[in-house]
Amino acid sequence: MAKLLLTKLFSSSPTKSKEEFTHLCSRGFLRQALHGFLPEVFADPNLFSCLLKACSTSHESLSHGRQLHGFIVTCGASADRFTANHLLHMYAKLGNPQAAALLFAGMPRKNIMSYNILIGGCVQSGDLNSARKLFDEMPERNVATWNAMVTGYTHFGFDEEGLEFLSQMRRLGLHPDEFSLASALRCCAGLKDLTFGQQIHGYLIPSGFEADICVGSSLAHMYMKCGRLQEGERALNVMPVLNVVSCNTVIAGRVQNGDYEGALSHFSLMMASGFTPDQVTFVSVISSCSELSALGQGQQVHALAIITGADSSVPVTSSLVSMYSKCGSLQDSINVFDDSSDESDLVLWSAVIAAYGFHGHGRRAIELFEKMINNGIEPSEVTFLSILYACCHSGLKGEGLWYLELMKKKYGLLPSLKHYTCIVDLLGRAGHLNEAEALIKSMNVEADGVIWKTLLSACKVHKNAVMMERVAEHVLRLDPEDSASYVLISNVRAAAARWNDVSDVRSSMKERKVRKEPGVSWMELKGEIHQFSTGERLHPRQNEIDEYLRELIGKMREQGYVPDTSMVLHDMEDEEKEYSLAHHSEKLAIAFALLSLPHGAPIRIMKNLRVCVDCHNAIKFISKIMEREIVVRDVSRFHHLKGGNCSCRDYW
Ligand code: ZN
Ligand code: ZN
Repeated sequence: MAKLLLTKLFSSSPTKSKEEFTHLCSRGFLRQALHGFLPEVFADPNLFSCLLKACSTSHESLSHGRQLHGFIVTCGASADRFTANHLLHMYAKLGNPQAAALLFAGMPRKNIMSYNILIGGCVQSGDLNSARKLFDEMPERNVATWNAMVTGYTHFGFDEEGLEFLSQMRRLGLHPDEFSLASALRCCAGLKDLTFGQQIHGYLIPSGFEADICVGSSLAHMYMKCGRLQEGERALNVMPVLNVVSCNTVIAGRVQNGDYEGALSHFSLMMASGFTPDQVTFVSVISSCSELSALGQGQQVHALAIITGADSSVPVTSSLVSMYSKCGSLQDSINVFDDSSDESDLVLWSAVIAAYGFHGHGRRAIELFEKMINNGIEPSEVTFLSILYACCHSGLKGEGLWYLELMKKKYGLLPSLKHYTCIVDLLGRAGHLNEAEALIKSMNVEADGVIWKTLLSACKVHKNAVMMERVAEHVLRLDPEDSASYVLISNVRAAAARWNDVSDVRSSMKERKVRKEPGVSWMELKGEIHQFSTGERLHPRQNEIDEYLRELIGKMREQGYVPDTSMVLHDMEDEEKEYSLAHHSEKLAIAFALLSLPHGAPIRIMKNLRVCVDCHNAIKFISKIMEREIVVRDVSRFHHLKGGNCSCRDYW
């Protein structure tokens, strides 16, 4: 009876058109649509779907949604599968999985769509178990079901499961959509599974998805993550338009693969093409400058970050703090930290604590660490690593051990291999070799080559030949190609005149084709990076450099410099040893710097390995004779050399 009356009302008001109603719904004017058209909706339950769709767009609509649900039940439309599915969708979309599940359970007739909607809701709220249960109990599935499972599992980091769903889907002859393909490629990147990634690529080419922005950049990202830079860039070139995101993918990809100069050159290209770099770009570019110790370029990028306003974001600020520190300018990194408005960010604090540690200011690092805790910020594993590193490089044994305990006991954080390596380094340098060895054996994580190598160099410094052999065996077991350990063992045995044992080492080196990692040093001159490799004569001004170095070493000898050949393989002639020492990359770089920089300008160089004992000593002499400040950044720390002394107090 009521229905009949309403129908009459509807037909008697010709001004209210169906178009007006759908227009209101599509623009989200739910209240107006409902109030103005209630009789019409009751007359034609199909109109509920429009209202429900409008309702799904905003969280505030949940109360309207419940009201609508009530109306639907009242007018008997809830048995209609079409309307019920829309209702289900609304609850799933508004993040109310319980209501959706309840409704679903009461639905007399469900179809694939009903299941898909509910699975979508579960996936969206991260309830993968329920999604899986529904998936398993479905009598029938379609492409959308499978796609929902692939994107759901991959979104929450279940890379293997996500890829398994994709494989099954392909085996059934179903076609994944661009979202599941892009997700699957990101899984391959996460797992570094190049083979699977290439299979997906093979599938993309005929499907035409290769040119899709989302799929194309995921493909490029996958290749770059797997170390295939060229394929990655080729994938980007296939895409119809370059944009900031694709530029960022290239730059980040090059950084991940250690091609920092390539990253900077793509950045120049990006700027020249008129794209405005964003936060993501700046973080990659600043870290490239920092890896290359390119202070000049770093300053330019900083200026650009200020212009674009990106410098106010915490990730950018943190990378600036560590860039300045790693480029040898601690003061600049402190300035950036002091200027930053966000003092509540842990990453930023960790960066500045690491900066102090890197420059050997252990006490200052500790002060900051304590200040941070007083400000109510809870330290993370990363902060503890920074503070342990700082203690280690300032020889603060007691403090280092105390922080290791604090980390475990007070903050319940499990120290990783990196934390332990810092402590082994700290104990080893201080000569507590047995304590360091005992620590390695008591760790709850498995030792790697690096931690044993750390102890090995301590054995060398403290001349403990017996332990050295034992430790070197561990190193070579875990890292059979470590040339430095072979050289060490061989020299220890040579010093004890154990010639048979020496030739054993030599032959196993030959057998394994071990070659020494070449020492490489860099320096930046007028925005250009100059590279020097030990024993190689590749620089255009090499003759001049050799000549200059020969004169310089002559002057140094007059002042008492004696080359230390203990780390050169013993079976070279003395003269040959000295020649090879004189051509260590850091000496070449410093000679070039002295030749090309204006008088009095500080020299900044960077080296890929630790500075060797002889070079360290030689650079001290150079800083005194030439009255120059020399900053050397090696793989483990900074050395500020001035007037014949080094900031590391010969502790590195
Ligand atoms: Zn050297
Ligand atoms: Zn030093």
